[in-house]
Amino acid sequence: MARDTLPVAVLGAGWAGLVAASELTARGYPVIVFEASPAVGGMAQSFKDDDGFSFDVGAHFITNRLAGMLGLGAECRTVRHYGEAVWFDGRSHSYPYGLVKNPRFSASALRSRFAGLRPGTRSATSARDEFAKRYGTALTDQVAAPLVEAWSGTPADELAPSVVNKISTSMLKTMYLRLAGRLSNRAVAIGYCRELPESASVWHVYPASGLGQLVARMAENVQESIRLSSPVEAVLVEDERAVAVRVGGEDIAVSGVFSSLPIHFLPKVVQGTSALDDLAEFRFRPMVFVNVKMDGRQLLPNVVLWTPEPAFRFFRLTEATTSMPWLAPDGKTVITADLGCEVGDEIWSMSNEEITEMVITQMEAVIPDARTRVLGSRVMRTKLAYPVFENSYEARRQAIATEFPIEGLVPIGRNGEFDHLLMEDVYWRTVRSVDVFARNE
Ligand SMILES: Cc1cc2nc3c(=O)[nH]c(=O)nc-3n(C[C@H](O)[C@H](O)[C@H](O)COP(=O)(O)OP(=O)(O)OC[C@H]3O[C@@H](n4cnc5c(N)ncnc54)[C@H](O)[C@@H]3O)c2cc1C
Repeated sequence: MARDTLPVAVLGAGWAGLVAASELTARGYPVIVFEASPAVGGMAQSFKDDDGFSFDVGAHFITNRLAGMLGLGAECRTVRHYGEAVWFDGRSHSYPYGLVKNPRFSASALRSRFAGLRPGTRSATSARDEFAKRYGTALTDQVAAPLVEAWSGTPADELAPSVVNKISTSMLKTMYLRLAGRLSNRAVAIGYCRELPESASVWHVYPASGLGQLVARMAENVQESIRLSSPVEAVLVEDERAVAVRVGGEDIAVSGVFSSLPIHFLPKVVQGTSALDDLAEFRFRPMVFVNVKMDGRQLLPNVVLWTPEPAFRFFRLTEATTSMPWLAPDGKTVITADLGCEVGDEIWSMSNEEITEMVITQMEAVIPDARTRVLGSRVMRTKLAYPVFENSYEARRQAIATEFPIEGLVPIGRNGEFDHLLMEDVYWRTVRSVDVFARNE
C-alpha cells in the first residue's frame, strides 16, 4: 500500500487519543484507534454507585472555555466555589491569604526575595531550592517540601525546579483571580491551563452527566475507527521511523503513530531502535484514592485541605461536593484522601477496609466526629497518577519535549508527554501535534 494511503494508528482511546483521532479524521487521514480496555475514556471516566454517589479519578472539572468549544456549554453546570487550605499546628490556614498573613512565613519570604534580587544570584538546582527562593525557607520546610515529597515519593532536593513551575501560579495573580471569582460567584480557573491565558472569564464547569459526556462527544466523530480490547503489543521502527504496529499478533503498516501510552513503557514496545531506551527510568507516582462517603456537608474547611504533617499518611483531602453539590445525594458528602505510594508497598497492599479505617482515624484530627458520619467507602488504586520530574533525568525530559527522536511517532497526552496536563492543555497540545504531523507529511 502506498505510504499516504496507510492509516495513522492512535494508541489509547483516552482523552488525548480521541482528540488526536478526531483531528486527524477532520484532516482526511484514515485512522485506527487501538484501546487496551473494553471502554473509551481512560482517566476521564466517572462512576455512579447504587447509593447515588458519583466518583471521578480524583476530583475532575473542566472550564467553560473547553466546554463551549466542544459545543457542551449548555450541558454543563457551573462550579460556584473552589478554595484550598492547609492544615498544620492543629488548625486550618486558608490558601493563599492565611499563609501570606503568617509573620514567620512572610518574613522568610521577604528575605528570600531580597537575596534573589542581588546580582549574580544563581538559578535553583532543585524543587526545594526553587520553593525556598519563591516562598522562603520557613514555608518550604513546613509546608511545600513535605507536600511535594509525599506527593512524589522523592526528596525535594532530588526533584527538578520545574516541579514548582507546574504547580504554582503567582500569589498575587491567585489573589486577583480569587477575588474575581468571589465577585462573580463562579470558581474562576487558577493554575488550570497553561496553553491559554488565565482570566476572570474562564471558570470551572462540570458536564451534567459526568466526564463520560465529554468523552462521548469527542468519540462521536471517530466511533467507526475505535477498536476496543485491542492492546498494542509493539510499535515497529525502521531507520528511526515508525512504520507499523502489532496488535493481536498482526503487524499493521501505518503512516504514523500517535501514542498516549505512558512514556516509560515505550522502550518495552518500540522495536527496531535503542533511541528510547533511557525513557524506561522516567517514573510515575502511583496513588491510592480513598473516597469516604459521609453524612453532612462542608465538613472540611475548604474544598481542598493539604496536610503536610507526617502524622497524616494522606497529603490531601478533597470534599468535591463543596464545589459540585450534585456529586452526592442531598445532605451527604464524599471526602477523598490521596495517598502516594509505590506498587506493592504497605499502602498499596492494604485491604480496602484497613486503608479506610486508617484514613478515618487520621481524619478525626480535622473532623472530630468523622467516624460517626461514615456511610461507606470506595477505594481506587492507580499506578500512573502523576509524572515525577526527577533531577536525574530532567535534561532528557526537556530534550524530548522539544524534539522526539523517532520520526512519525508522536507522544500525546498526560502520560505520553510525561507532563502534568489537564484536559484543556491535552486538547490544545494534541491539536498542535496533529498540525505539525500534517505539515511534515
Ligand atoms: C488525580 C487526577 C485528577 C485530575 N483532575 C483533573 C481535573 O480536574 N481536570 C482536568 O481537566 N484534568 C484532570 N486530570 C487530568 C486528566 O485526567 C488527563 O489530562 C486526561 O484524562 C489524560 O488523558 P490521556 O488520554 O492522556 O491519558 P489516559 O486517560 O490515561 O488514556 C490512555 C489510554 O491508553 C490506553 N492504553 C494503555 N496501554 C495501552 C496499549 N498498550 N494499547 C492500547 N491502549 C492502551 C489506556 O487504557 C487509556 O484508555 C486529573 C488527573 C488525575 C490523575
